[in-house]
Amino acid sequence: MQELTHFIGGKHVKGTSGRFADVFNPATGEVQAKLPLASVAETDAAVANAAAAQPAWAATNPQRRARVLMEFVRLLNRDMDKLAEALSREHGKTVPDARGDVQRGLEVVEFCIGAPHLLKGEYTDSAGPGIDMYSMRQALGVVAGITPFNFPAMIPMWKFAPAIACGNAFILKPSERDPSVPLMLAELMLEAGLPEGILNVVNGDKEAVDAILDNGTVQAVGFVGSTPIAQYIYARGCANGKRVQCFGGAKNHMIVMPDADMDQAADALIGAGYGAAGERCMAISVAVPVGDQTADALIEKLVPRIEKLKIAPYTGGEDVDYGPLVTAEAKSRVLGLIESGIEQGAELVIDNRDFSLQGYEDGFFVGPHLFDRVTREMDIYKQEIFGPVLSTVRAENYEDALAHAMDHEYGNGTAIFTRDGDTARDFANRINIGMVGINVPIPVPLAYHTFGGWKKSGFGDLNQHGPDAFRFYTRTKTVTSRWPSGLKEGGEFHFKQMD
Ligand code: NAD
Repeated sequence: MQELTHFIGGKHVKGTSGRFADVFNPATGEVQAKLPLASVAETDAAVANAAAAQPAWAATNPQRRARVLMEFVRLLNRDMDKLAEALSREHGKTVPDARGDVQRGLEVVEFCIGAPHLLKGEYTDSAGPGIDMYSMRQALGVVAGITPFNFPAMIPMWKFAPAIACGNAFILKPSERDPSVPLMLAELMLEAGLPEGILNVVNGDKEAVDAILDNGTVQAVGFVGSTPIAQYIYARGCANGKRVQCFGGAKNHMIVMPDADMDQAADALIGAGYGAAGERCMAISVAVPVGDQTADALIEKLVPRIEKLKIAPYTGGEDVDYGPLVTAEAKSRVLGLIESGIEQGAELVIDNRDFSLQGYEDGFFVGPHLFDRVTREMDIYKQEIFGPVLSTVRAENYEDALAHAMDHEYGNGTAIFTRDGDTARDFANRINIGMVGINVPIPVPLAYHTFGGWKKSGFGDLNQHGPDAFRFYTRTKTVTSRWPSGLKEGGEFHFKQMD
């Protein structure tokens, strides 16, 4: 059995806590590796190591820092297939989807190559007689990222690339479900020229997370994962005086207006609802057709498309639509929610509860499901399912559809499908959700914009990647300087107004 490691101070380090987690191959259900879970002492040692390395990195000219990221991009492209295969093996997503996971992280790294420009401060010449004022963005020191299982390449890169470009040292605590790719990324950063100790991977569970949150050296924590953990980390990190941003769960609604192109809407729902087995925070899990006629037409288009989906392990070819869920618990949770939907009165239009894949009976596969006539009170509507289950909520009119999305506690993403510009514009302006698609089902912003949800999908003031990341990972210092000839004339004791 392979025993994985931590990556601290530029080296693979064996775990010493004696605690381990199993890493599965979700397609077969087999344990393929043991992951050490760091103790408080191991986590603190990694932070101390990072703190020792950080000042020299912060003092390195930002263009040289950016060159490391430039080389890292080349190495990511060189190793793309290897990374995608390792990712699929532990996560279960298809190989093209795994490449997309790496690619969307890589694009944020590319954006961060512009760090020298983004880190330039502000300057006011002659703010007063002989007085100049300037602001600079300085690195925070040691910062940490705690990331989820569903994008084991992209989200670590969203966190560490801007943090490191800004001159910080980084502690990454990836998901214990699929830790191999984060370790490979740390190796590649070292190969790209990053000094030892600037990017560290500490594998672990709640004990390592709490150690990060309570460590006085760690200045900032970025988290992505489920909402209850996001709230916990936000509260504990803030109470300890850290800068914290936490991105949580989602329940993304797609409103389908009667004038929408129904084929386009159905195609969009298939990819956004069932892609990656629904294990995406930007998955569309609720379709909201407006009017019964629209609902009937949409369901009629969806059913044959869902029946054609190919569910298989990532080794099943490039035409696999989605693979297994990540763990046996995830599978039984999703199947339990499907049962609750039936008990609570939703109509199960496509029922694959008995789905099984020959040769992979022990894998964590769940067939696609489609519910109709879902209502607000049902658990399948209230909770994030994170599986291949699409719920249809029939709205009476546009205002009713809008109210469903607005009243839901999550506010990550949403979409509207319509041919009417006025409706689309009204929707984009009024909706209380962070990322909006107009005839686009998964409106994930590109690297140079920012990514973040509202309501219970996001905690903190700034979004991830784009310009916000450079604000999050730096502190502003403003210097007022005077080089007058008259200082020797004596000090001033009143608050001086600028002339
Ligand atoms: P999770 O909350 O279980 O785990 C996320 C991280 O928190 C992991 O590193 C895990 O080790 C750690 N963790 C888990 N339990 C903890 C505890 N009790 N105390 C301290 N740390 C703990 O999430 P997950 O299952 O890995 O990921 C899926 C969730 O992430 C979904 O809810 C999804 O919507 C969300 N997500 C959100 C975004 C976003 O940007 N909003 C992006 C991707 C995923």
